Amino acid sequence: MKIILLGPPGAGKGTIAKALMDYDGSVQISTGDILRAAVAAGTELGKQAEAAMKAGDLVSDELIMGIMGERLQQEDCQRGYLLDGFPRTLPQARALKSLLDELGEKLDCALELDIPREVIIDRLTTRRTCSNCGEIYNVKTRPPKVEGVCDVCGGPVLQRDDETEEAIENRLQVYQQQTAPLVDFYRDEGLLVSVPSSDLEPVMAALKPRIG
Ligand code: ADP
Ligand code: ZN
Repeated sequence: MKIILLGPPGAGKGTIAKALMDYDGSVQISTGDILRAAVAAGTELGKQAEAAMKAGDLVSDELIMGIMGERLQQEDCQRGYLLDGFPRTLPQARALKSLLDELGEKLDCALELDIPREVIIDRLTTRRTCSNCGEIYNVKTRPPKVEGVCDVCGGPVLQRDDETEEAIENRLQVYQQQTAPLVDFYRDEGLLVSVPSSDLEPVMAALKPRIG
């Protein structure tokens, strides 16, 4: 399947993407993960993205389209992809549309996880991430077995730099201003599927008619 995941930070896009990946072997492509890996590795890309990310602002459309233009043409995308955290602005959505037209590809749908703000804030402030492998924990609902240590790889489980209260506030505002308009964009394209939950069951039920 070829799907875009829409929804505010903390809506559960990554979790749903992983579940859908198991379903049919499509790859999850997370621009946030790509950028964090670049920052950790200290590459040129990482240096360009670091400050904006730390503040919870978006990195430039040019940078993102550079990454995704290449990524979407790699071999593993043949089976399908779940775009997690991209596109995030109208210019990115339009650029993606022209890119897919050029490649002769069609999206199945844009899946919006429409989750209330209170739920989002609670999730983000309690979220912890393995800084080595990216595994996601929650101090209330899914703590690692040993505090601060990843169950999967033994790496340090920490609060992300952009998960301070201030940065979260900013990310939600950035979402409202820059990303929420994509809901209308994809509705107009006839591609929008909106689900008021991030549980797998209702999501699958909503997707079924689109992915066959
Ligand atoms: P979130 O939990 O906010 O969805 P992500 O892991 O998707 O976080 O992204 C983390 C940060 O990476 C964003 O706050 C932003 O700075 C940057 N980023 C990720 N994807 C994009 C994108 N498509 N356009 C611009 N910036 C992006
Ligand atoms: Zn880990």
